[in-house]
Amino acid sequence: MTNHSVVIAGAGPTGLMLAGELALAGVDVVIVERRPNQELSGARALGLMSRTLEVFDQRGIVDRFLSAGKIAQVTGFAVTRLDISDFPTRHNYGLALRQKYIERILAGWVTELRVPILYGPEITGFVQHDAGVDVTLADGESLRAQYLVGCDGGRSVIRKTAGIDFPGWDPTTSNILAEVEMTERPPYGVHRSAAGLYAFGREEYEVINGEIVYKEVGPIGVMVTEPNPSSTTEPTLEDLKRLLIAACGTDYGVHSPTWISRFTDATRQAAQYRSGRVLLAGDAAHVHSPIGGQGLSTGVQDAVNLGWKLAQVIKGTSPDSLLDTYHAERHPVGARVLKATMAQVALHREDARTLAVRDIVGDLLKMEEPRKHIAGMMSGLDIRYDLGPGHPLLGRRMPDLDVDTASGPRRVFSFLHDARPILINFGAPRAIDIAQWSERVQSVDATYDGTWQLPVLGQVAAPDAVLIRPDGYVAWVGDGTTQGLAEALTTWFGNARASDQRTK
Ligand SMILES: Cc1cc2nc3c(=O)[nH]c(=O)nc-3n(C[C@H](O)[C@H](O)[C@H](O)COP(=O)(O)OP(=O)(O)OC[C@H]3O[C@@H](n4cnc5c(N)ncnc54)[C@H](O)[C@@H]3O)c2cc1C
Repeated sequence: MTNHSVVIAGAGPTGLMLAGELALAGVDVVIVERRPNQELSGARALGLMSRTLEVFDQRGIVDRFLSAGKIAQVTGFAVTRLDISDFPTRHNYGLALRQKYIERILAGWVTELRVPILYGPEITGFVQHDAGVDVTLADGESLRAQYLVGCDGGRSVIRKTAGIDFPGWDPTTSNILAEVEMTERPPYGVHRSAAGLYAFGREEYEVINGEIVYKEVGPIGVMVTEPNPSSTTEPTLEDLKRLLIAACGTDYGVHSPTWISRFTDATRQAAQYRSGRVLLAGDAAHVHSPIGGQGLSTGVQDAVNLGWKLAQVIKGTSPDSLLDTYHAERHPVGARVLKATMAQVALHREDARTLAVRDIVGDLLKMEEPRKHIAGMMSGLDIRYDLGPGHPLLGRRMPDLDVDTASGPRRVFSFLHDARPILINFGAPRAIDIAQWSERVQSVDATYDGTWQLPVLGQVAAPDAVLIRPDGYVAWVGDGTTQGLAEALTTWFGNARASDQRTK
């Protein structure tokens, strides 16, 4: 039996991101992926939200994604496009980039960090005991780990084996997705019929003046609403033809599908993200309609919240209870994503009363405050973990400021590339001494002359110091004193070195 500190089930976006985070912290991690390689068949996510781009920027890898995708104002709510170009972030946009490319880039990063990915074997179960978890593979082999993380998608074997409830709502809508050839050119873009949405597109496209313009090469992607959301059989070409004729009056001579699949608005969330030594992240912890494009981004951000905490527990610098903050912080974020997608699915209905609500919501979203509020949520830029009352920065993402330090100008995110926490002191130089945590927490004196702007909230008071967690969220804000700093350092990064427990 091979031993590892962490076994991750699944090399989707969530599992890959988590592996990268653990590897940066020096933790021995292995990914088990049942696919034979990283190739992804079928259409999945089409892009990344602003906060996820920031998260990649915090690790110094965002350029890999930006150079492969297309920047666009893709944030939206139901049928309304929300422009976030006025939000105070370097990434005041979304990125159009298909999941297969996102996974390829993440797999490349993880490989550079020397994480082994075992392609091929399927995890069939596990047994937890006091010292670890024994993970069983379909070929009869097994692995032993201190912790097992299920990043194995919506039908997660890990979640089921752990006996974690997955309460929620059955589907109300169902759609067939396919990649096909057609003898006639269909009308590209998204359309509505009495039966629901249907859409046509191609993989190759350009964004011209904010609009998608498809190139006439390669297979055609098609999506069409099914009337029966509880269908359980595999969709066929005949099903697709029938649905196209019902929606468009023609099937455009559809033939030669590369793949045909189905997605629904089934909406469910794991009741617990943790059961002892087993944790869940990404689609294994939450599933919902793809409307709004939040699934992949939410999974990546789950991973970034969990990675550093798990690493500290494995290294013994933090107690096991730190892992409970993962559920406490990420479950509410997931619940909000579920709520937002259910609202958007409802707004896509075609009856007269829903059309009336859609009109009114559209009018509201043209107003400044509602636009900012909903765009903050859909872009992930407004996430606030409940770290108690205090300065508006507490529990929110640290802005990527341009600061000056003794060694020259720096971007704040550049301090986070190695996923290590940092205390930035903007007050009198050397006014804060955190020597007792110096092995775990970086510390720098800096100056910043600009205003402090947060998405949605606007300008906030300039702090004297901030303690930033590896995930980029502010764990403590100084206002001229160090009150609460030692507690925050201990809570998030473990006890002070025994010699001296004071902060100056
Ligand atoms: C049509 C569609 C459109 C979407 N559009 C968007 C979008 O625009 N934006 C967005 O953010 N999200 C979108 N999503 C959602 C997004 O695809 C998912 O949220 C995302 O893939 C979740 O990543 P994950 O790593 O958690 O899970 P997955 O991507 O499902 O990865 C799980 C991995 O685990 C592996 N695995 C499963 N079981 C086992 C096992 N027992 N042993 C070993 N390996 C196993 C699987 O092979 C897979 O590679 C869309 C989804 C669909 C279906």
